[in-house]
Amino acid sequence: MDDPFVSCPYNPIHRVPRSRLQRHIVKCEWINPTMIACPYNATHRYTQEDMKFHVLNCPSKTSIFPIEKPPKTVASITTPKIILQKEYLPETDPNHEIWDD
Ligand SMILES: [Zn+2]
Ligand SMILES: [Zn+2]
Repeated sequence: MDDPFVSCPYNPIHRVPRSRLQRHIVKCEWINPTMIACPYNATHRYTQEDMKFHVLNCPSKTSIFPIEKPPKTVASITTPKIILQKEYLPETDPNHEIWDD
């Protein structure tokens, strides 16, 4: 069979065809909001705590990132992207206020 059933990462009792796993995961996602997706494989779902260890040993990692150069995955998971407006402020004007546009 080229479309084997696999276990849902949220609930192993859920058996879904591999090709449908990603779509199934979306349904289970809202039930388990604490679970986050593995940066290397969207079908890997773990709690933030478990993900820290999983990303180090993810079986999908080497196939995507064969080079010893860890992507900024953990950081992007735990911290939202914030644009540092300060970087765009002129350093010559210390009294410049961010909200005073
Ligand atoms: Zn499920
Ligand atoms: Zn993974």
